[in-house]
Amino acid sequence: MTRIAFIGLGNMGGGMAANQARAGHEVRAFDLSAAALEKAVAAGCLASGSAVEAVRDADAVITMLPAGHHVRAVYAGEIMPNAKPGALFIDCSTIDVESARAVAADVTRAGFRFADAPVSGGTTGAEAGTLAFMVGCAEADFAAVEALIGPMARTTIRAGDHGAGQAAKICNNMVLGATMIATCEAFALAEKLGLDPERFFEIASKSSGQSWSLTSYCPWPGPVLAAPSNRNYEGGFATAMMLKDLKLAQEAAARAGAATPLGAQAEGLYALFDRLGGGGKDFSAILELFRGNAPIPAKTT
Ligand code: NAD
Repeated sequence: MTRIAFIGLGNMGGGMAANQARAGHEVRAFDLSAAALEKAVAAGCLASGSAVEAVRDADAVITMLPAGHHVRAVYAGEIMPNAKPGALFIDCSTIDVESARAVAADVTRAGFRFADAPVSGGTTGAEAGTLAFMVGCAEADFAAVEALIGPMARTTIRAGDHGAGQAAKICNNMVLGATMIATCEAFALAEKLGLDPERFFEIASKSSGQSWSLTSYCPWPGPVLAAPSNRNYEGGFATAMMLKDLKLAQEAAARAGAATPLGAQAEGLYALFDRLGGGGKDFSAILELFRGNAPIPAKTT
């Protein structure tokens, strides 16, 4: 049994912490949201009153926070000054490569081990313990990182040294943002052409239009039962989070001198959808923009 401090119990962290508790670890959970903390306790975690309390005597610390500035602040202010010497830190949030490298440099200088380990697989994967982890860490630390990640993962791949996990994640999410938009445009066009969208799904999912956005996360309600499209696009991966990742990709591309015109288009379209009121909805709700329904109607039930 490992004593794990788990900080950030939102849409993703909640399910991930629950899987660590289910695996028999002592999970000391903390979130600024009392509701999120209560949910984690109901799933077998122990409530901590603060991040400082959670990390004291913990063998490992896992963070799942919204963005780079949250991660920098929590590591500098709460985790580093209070953690046990030699503890293993794994940050699973999606953040900019520079923040990941800066945190890694600070904590390794202080004698801790660190991995940036962002994930793919959405809230369904977080709950089921089937996430894909892309890890940036020292080669010598990877076995320990992989073992700790085990109860939350289907796949764990070392991308390279510190920051490489985040680099892989923003490239992956640039593909995801662009394929979701292409999939939504196609559904909106199919509808306009009088083609039954469910029939289009059946055909495209067995043809070259197939992608994760279509067959695992279908934006049209119906074909994929677990997809947020079947719950009025509530929960899932918020448009605001997708926009954050696309901005990270564009910033990284500008710095690296890489041409990413489709990524730039995807960022612009998600920024527009966010401004039209879609920021809190799952990112597949951008379908409504192409159907001419944005801002999207409020939940009717
Ligand atoms: P979320 O907003 O649901 O959860 C974040 C949680 O962090 C919230 O509960 C918030 O209260 C908590 N928090 C913020 N600051 C804190 C602090 N200082 N101390 C303690 N708790 C704090 O977000 P999410 O959807 O769970 O996403 C988390 C991260 O995972 C993001 O970086 C996101 O990009 C990434 N991600 C999300 C998905 C997805 O499908 N939702 C998929 C892959 C990666």
